[in-house]
Order: sequence, then structure tokens, then C-alpha cells
Amino acid sequence: MHLLVVEDDARLRRLLGRLLSVDRHVVEEAADARTALELARMADGLDAIILDIGLPDRSGLEVAKDLRARGSSVPILMLTARDAIDDRVRGLDSGADDYLVKPFAYEELSARLRALGRRGRNGTRRTAKLMNGPITLDEAMREVTVAGRAVTLSPREFSLLECFLRHPGQALSRDQLLDAAWPYGVAVTPNTVDAYVHLLREKLGPAGSARIRTERGVGYRLLAPERTSRQERREGSGVEARP
Ligand code: CA
Repeated sequence: MHLLVVEDDARLRRLLGRLLSVDRHVVEEAADARTALELARMADGLDAIILDIGLPDRSGLEVAKDLRARGSSVPILMLTARDAIDDRVRGLDSGADDYLVKPFAYEELSARLRALGRRGRNGTRRTAKLMNGPITLDEAMREVTVAGRAVTLSPREFSLLECFLRHPGQALSRDQLLDAAWPYGVAVTPNTVDAYVHLLREKLGPAGSARIRTERGVGYRLLAPERTSRQERREGSGVEARP
């Protein structure tokens, strides 16, 4: 997607820019309302705008209203401070399509953007299911099954698994997993990631957990779907073969 991130907090803006680029989005960045409106005018093919409400020159609400007044229908995901319920309501009134309360985990933002992208193209939400071997994750229903067995995950475990499923076959560092599944600014150590991966593996059971490999010195890797059954047979891991 071609995205515009409007956020005056430089650290958060750069973090989002970096993470979204890794996910192959093309990202424009603006630190204030004036730049945002200029970029939105020039960049014709924007697929979505991530818009912080608290900006130094004008509020994000005014930016959204301005864009809609100009006839722009680009999906807007508003970022609002924790518990600022008035802001959420006013955000949607001003023409935003969705909002996210800070602090949020990157995977939450990523899921909202995908929903906006789907809505933008089809006018309706479509259910996205991520599958890998026996593991199925239904984003819309927030459900996970392993070989048909329902598994209950905490929100953090769910985000971790979602991150793995979105990057099959890729070695993910503990820092990458932290950025994806934990709200920014929350103090957690790489050991926390290890603890949560351990919990996730236990809940997924032998068949599911066999797919998450520890990458020495790096982090973790979810086996790519097309390689798995061959690799498992070769390694004689004892995991039952799957079609
Ligand atoms: Ca701000």
C-alpha cells in the first residue's frame, strides 16, 4: 500500500515508517498538518493515511475534515490518546474510517490497515485466514485452530503468531517480534519474547509448535508452508506427516 504517516512524535513516526517499509508498503511521512495536507494533495494514489490527532499546528481532526471537504475518500486511520473517547467519536465524525488508541502494537495497526485496504477495494470487509501447516488463524474472528482444534491465545500470543504467519520461512529477531507484538514504549526485554514464544508453543501443541524453530543467535522462524512436510520427513522429527 502507499501510505502517509502523520505523527509529530519523531520516534514513533520513524518506527512506523521502518516497520511499514519492511512490510513492503511505500511510506510518506509528515510531522505536522500543513505537510500532511501538501503530501496528500500531491500523492494521488494514497491507499491510506495514518493520522495522529495531536499535531503541533492543527489537529488531525481538522486535517481529516479538510481532506473530506476536498472530496478525498482515502481511508483514514486515526491515532488517539488512551481513553480519549471524545476524540474517537469526533475522529469518526470528522471523516476518519477507523481509530487506534495509543499505545498500540504494530500488528494491531497492520491488521486495521489491511481491513481498510480491503474495504477500500471491495466496499466490504473480507475475512482473512492465515494458514501454515496445521495452524489456521482467522483475523476477523480472532480464532486460532491447530489441526481443527481450537486454541485460546492471549492478545500478545495472538499478535506473535500473526507476525510469524505473515513472515513464513523468515528468521525473525527478538527485536522484530517485540516491535510487532508489543505496544511501542512498553518496557520489555528480549527475554519476554522467549517467555511468550514458549507459552505460544505450549498452546499450539506438538504439531503446531514443531513449526516454530529457534534460530541460534537470531530469534525464531516459522517454517515456510511449502517446505515443511519435506523438511520434517528428512529430519525425522517424529511429527506426524500432514497433507
Ligand atoms: Ca502527537
